[in-house]
This record gives sequence, C-alpha cells and structure tokens, in this order.
Amino acid sequence: GFDLSQFEVGDLIGKGAFGEVYVASHKRRKRVKVALKCMMKSQEDRYLDVDGHSTPVLAEVAMMLRLMNAPRCPNIIRLHDWVELEDNFVLILEYAESCQTLLQYIKDTGDIEENQARRLMRQLIRAVMFCTERGVFHGDIHTANILVTLPRLELKLIDFGCAQPITHKPFNKSDYRGAGHGMPPEALRGRVFHANPAYVWTIGIMLYEIMHGRLAFCNRQSLMFGSIQINPRLSTACVDLISQCLIRNPVQRLQLHQVEEHCWFNPTTPNSLKQF
Ligand code: ADP
Ligand code: MG
Ligand code: MG
Repeated sequence: GFDLSQFEVGDLIGKGAFGEVYVASHKRRKRVKVALKCMMKSQEDRYLDVDGHSTPVLAEVAMMLRLMNAPRCPNIIRLHDWVELEDNFVLILEYAESCQTLLQYIKDTGDIEENQARRLMRQLIRAVMFCTERGVFHGDIHTANILVTLPRLELKLIDFGCAQPITHKPFNKSDYRGAGHGMPPEALRGRVFHANPAYVWTIGIMLYEIMHGRLAFCNRQSLMFGSIQINPRLSTACVDLISQCLIRNPVQRLQLHQVEEHCWFNPTTPNSLKQF
C-alpha cells in the first residue's frame, strides 16, 4: 500500500467539480511524485451508500481498477491507491510531470501541425481501445480530461468520475454523465447508444478541436442539425477522418477499429501537399 504520511503536499495543480488535485513529493526521495485528487465528502453526502461510502468515488475507483491490471496502457493515468480520510477521499494518482491539459496545449500552441495531431490522436485511440477491451466507457472525454506531457507529447487520459461499465445492454442518455462536449447526437436525442460509436464520435470531436482550436459544435442545435465547418487547408485524409467520425447516424459512422486503420494514420500514404 501507499503511505500518505510519507508524502509532502505541494502545489494545487487542478480543480474540478468535487475537489482539488495537488502534487505531492516523497519526503525522503524528492523525485518521487504523485498527484492527489482530493474529493470532499460533505459535497457528496447525498451519494453515500449504506456503509457511508461515497458511491461516485467508489465507482471512479472501480472503473480505474479495471484498467490497472497488467498489461497497462501508458496512455491512461495510473491509480496507485486510494485512501478514505475523515472528510476526504483521496485518489493517489501517477503524476504527469511537465504536462498541460490538452485544452491549454491547444490554446498555447495555436496552429497545431497534422504530425503533432496524429501523434496525439494515436495515443488517444490507444487509450480508448484499451478502455473498451476492459469494459470501461469513460463518458467524459474532453480537452480538460486529457493531459499532454511536453516536449514529448505523451498523452494521458484522466478523470474516470463519469465512467460506466460496458455491458451487453446499450446505454441510455442518462448514462452519459460527462460535461456534454463529447456527447454523441444519438445520446442527446434520448435514444440508447453504444460505447464504441460514442467513442468514435468523441475522437472526431477531439481531432476537430485540435485542428481548429475551437469546438466542432457550439451548442445543442448545431450538434443535432448544423453542418461542420472544416478548415479547407487540412489534408484530404484529415478532412475525411473528421467527417467520417462525425457522421450523426451511429450506424454509418466509422467503426472504432476503422479509425485506427484510416489512411490519415498510415505514414506511407502521402496525405498532405500542404507544404508545397
Ligand atoms: P474532476 O473530476 O474534478 O474534473 P480531474 O481528475 O479532471 O478532476 O482533475 C482536475 C484537473 O487536475 C485536471 O484537468 C488536470 O489539470 C489536473 N490533474 C488531474 N490529475 C492529474 C495528474 N495525475 N497529473 C497532473 N495533473 C492532473
Ligand atoms: Mg475533469
Ligand atoms: Mg470528474
């Protein structure tokens, strides 16, 4: 197990709905760092189960534990342990050193090159595929829940607070508990939805945002009915991949395994004449 008393709590590195994230370093071995995601119990009282445990926190831990058995995926943040204190639940997480959220990275970088985007998207797809293999639907993929380490551009998926187990049954709209940016139209429409097509939609949303520096859809209306404005200077392959991930009908949408095989990811195919 992990002994919290051996760690010294440092700077606040992030804030979310239910709590705060701090970096902490090992008192003797200063180079050993972890991230502590602290969630106040009082804010979750109404979610306590019969034993007084917080069900959302337990669900977050349970979903992460599915992803922690070897072999692990390097693109999913590691959960070392979790402890229950009197007022707090603390998740002890791998600390992503010298990282930014994807949100901040997009803001700071401005025009992101397709090569950079490809590097990020490959890792996001790896994380998503791994989640499906372990039966986890993340349910809240957006740019503040993705960390990017600099300068190596390693991607880490974080925040399984809205994750759901994938079963043989489809999800209902209410199962999508995330912020909404990544919610696929079939879920918004109130129909049932499946994890894999929902993941593909989110991949399209993320690729669009990386390449344009803004959301593909700014509101519900445009998500349901609007046309997507894709930058014509992107490579044909990139435009095609975004368009095929963002097909509203989940049956016609690209399938998860097809995303990985798409020619935009195939380096032997010349996919951009932009530089000439
Ligand atoms: P919430 O569930 O409240 O949204 P998150 O798990 O998304 O909390 O964490 C909030 C923020 O804290 C993130 O957007 C990120 O900036 C930062 N953060 C979270 N986990 C880590 C980590 N392991 N390493 C570095 N920063 C992190
Ligand atoms: Mg979050
Ligand atoms: Mg959360």
